[in-house]
Amino acid sequence: MATSHCVGFPRIGKFRELKKATEAYWRGDLDQSALMAEGKRLRSMHWRMQQDAGIDWVATGDFAWYDQMLNHSMMLGAIPHRFEGNIEGQADNLLDTQFRMARGRAPSGQAAAACEMTKWFDTNYHYIVPELHQGQTFRLTSRAVIEQTIEAQEQGFNAKPVLIGPLTWLWLGKVKGEPFDRLELLDELVTVYGQVLAELAETGAQWVQIDEPILALDLPQPWLQAFESVYNKLQTPAIKIMLATYFGGLQDATTTVANLPVEGLHIDLVRAPEQLLSELDRLPAYKTLSVGVIDGRNIWRSDLSAILEQLKPAREKLGERLWVSSSCSLLHVPVDLDSEERLDEETKSWLAFAVQKCEEIAALGKALSGDNSDKTRALVALSDTVACSRRASRRIHREEVQQKTDAITPELMQRHSPFAQRYSLQREKLKLPLFPTTTIGSFPQTKEIRRQRSLYRKQQLDRQEYLESMQQEIQATIKRQEALGLDVLVHGEAERNDMVEYFGEQLDGFAFTEYGWVQSYGSRCVKPPIIYGDISRPAPMTVDWSVFAQQQTSKVMKGMLTGPVTILRWSFPRDDVSQKTSCEQLALALREEVTDLEQAGIGVIQIDEPAIREGLPLRKADWPEYLDWAVNCFRLTAGGVQDDTQIHTHMCYSEFNDIIEYIAAMDADVITIETSRSDMQLLDAFEEFEYPNEIGPGVYDIHSPNVPEREWMKQLIKKAAEKIPPERLWVNPDCGLKTRDWPEVEEALTNMVQVARELRAEY
Ligand code: GLN
Ligand code: ZN
Repeated sequence: MATSHCVGFPRIGKFRELKKATEAYWRGDLDQSALMAEGKRLRSMHWRMQQDAGIDWVATGDFAWYDQMLNHSMMLGAIPHRFEGNIEGQADNLLDTQFRMARGRAPSGQAAAACEMTKWFDTNYHYIVPELHQGQTFRLTSRAVIEQTIEAQEQGFNAKPVLIGPLTWLWLGKVKGEPFDRLELLDELVTVYGQVLAELAETGAQWVQIDEPILALDLPQPWLQAFESVYNKLQTPAIKIMLATYFGGLQDATTTVANLPVEGLHIDLVRAPEQLLSELDRLPAYKTLSVGVIDGRNIWRSDLSAILEQLKPAREKLGERLWVSSSCSLLHVPVDLDSEERLDEETKSWLAFAVQKCEEIAALGKALSGDNSDKTRALVALSDTVACSRRASRRIHREEVQQKTDAITPELMQRHSPFAQRYSLQREKLKLPLFPTTTIGSFPQTKEIRRQRSLYRKQQLDRQEYLESMQQEIQATIKRQEALGLDVLVHGEAERNDMVEYFGEQLDGFAFTEYGWVQSYGSRCVKPPIIYGDISRPAPMTVDWSVFAQQQTSKVMKGMLTGPVTILRWSFPRDDVSQKTSCEQLALALREEVTDLEQAGIGVIQIDEPAIREGLPLRKADWPEYLDWAVNCFRLTAGGVQDDTQIHTHMCYSEFNDIIEYIAAMDADVITIETSRSDMQLLDAFEEFEYPNEIGPGVYDIHSPNVPEREWMKQLIKKAAEKIPPERLWVNPDCGLKTRDWPEVEEALTNMVQVARELRAEY
């Protein structure tokens, strides 16, 4: 009998019910008890979905009002001092405290600066970063995981509580104040975890899953060594620990982990299938092995027959000690495919969301136990049919696309001349002043723009009317930029709902869902497009807009595209070809767009790649391979233009140092980049490496509503000019302006243009 279990389930609800409820609570439209009731209803519904799918152990403790890491900070009482005080007379409570930590404010309690938020490993999910300081103590504070486990048990579910492990929580925490070694906090921390386990034992829970995804990182020795003592201390009578690892293989940690005093180990066989045999060799005879064989990071139906074949040796060796599940929590996929109506039947048949993945896990468990019931057989047969249909589909495999990628040569990735030559040709043609000013692409997405789009979507506006209203927006945006005195203008991206979806909708090989929501952070969800097949561009995507925009002005108009790596990263990728292959197809499609723009008279073209850095593999040894193809795909996109056409790129982060050589290798003529929040931290990268091309270090933070002061921006550029010759510096904000209002944008850009003018006089 192979046991099936759920490593974790999405919490947002099929129709984003949790988002709607929490936002209503924040607005004051829902009271706390109503919010609590909605949370309880959703948990119960999600356990039911898992159980109905046939899962043996449902997950508890994976629910969160905002974020699961934040849940653990609440559990441990790791609440920064600034959130402790009560505002007079107003009752504070744990719920509002966690909302204040996440968002800076809540219906009750004093506002304070929110905690930092960052991406969870290489996913698009963001967690609230724990704040750590020397001498910090921990105290069992929130008992949510215990209470919710009891809640599930009372409703008759087989509950397996899930915790994020103490080492992962600590590793992801950030030191505030005096630097110190975070491991000093471990003893205290483990004591609280011990209490939680003891209380879970009292509920009657048998298995507790403890997630330590940091085991898939290159961990320093002391951290790896700490595992043994931590898990020794965590041994609790009546509790069996399932140590869960995911997002990669254990590699150097394999032996340490196999020998830890825990009863079970979960490994990710989607990302690292080769682990199975080494684990089978090493695992002590008393331990349970949970194999993560259903992809928790992607939306494809699995090939169950192939998995059953792969698991044969495990079944023979482990018998009842074999468990099956998804590679990681299903948090990263949408909830239920059955609600989908926008997808055609064929595409739909290829997919599995969380509910369907639970069915697959359960079917595997049953099949491995020798269950040959109709239901199990039907699911395996369905998966065979789907595997065949995907292999043969002409919608997926298109020879003309494959011929194009086969024909890629290094020459295609190469501009005609080196940067120095291009630079003078471009300066001559574009006639730009010293310290040219520009923006990153988008201007405020006003209520009016959103209203027009929604009318168009509801078919209350025909295509022509919609196009005209967007053209008016573009005209107005250009007038404003002219009045501000900017040098290189943009059309403002009014016609784009989203920088990836906009392109995906116009490319072949992409599908879109109606309810395919995935939590990004807190109540924010995204609906990633699905890349199902070979990608091509049936027709130009942005040319008409850019040409229209250029016709409105005698100034230089910058064309605006999203780059291949970013489109790939923010979509669900195929699992039947490598990401590199899809990226090359995207690059070729975008290259056609770039050359069409050039033909149409657009002399400056920006190809945004904000996602290049977040695509970095978790292990450093894998970086070069990824960066090589990512950089090549960018070069392929940009490489078809004449020397005097200026290629820009944009990135939104400042940790630049460790990949600067690759960024330089992209060979964009101009790169604009975020720096202002980190006070030009980026410049550290230039201590040892001289960035060869032009660069626009963002001079103000667009994420803040504060209008930047001139002196501040001027100092930043002057600082930059010490490292980069002024002839190669641009002046621009650090990201697109779509989330801001016009009055603040106008004020900020007035200051920015003024600063550039003053600098021109000084240099
Ligand atoms: N061109 C895009 C914009 O301005 C860039 C967005 C981004 O960097 N994420 O909105
Ligand atoms: Zn940006």
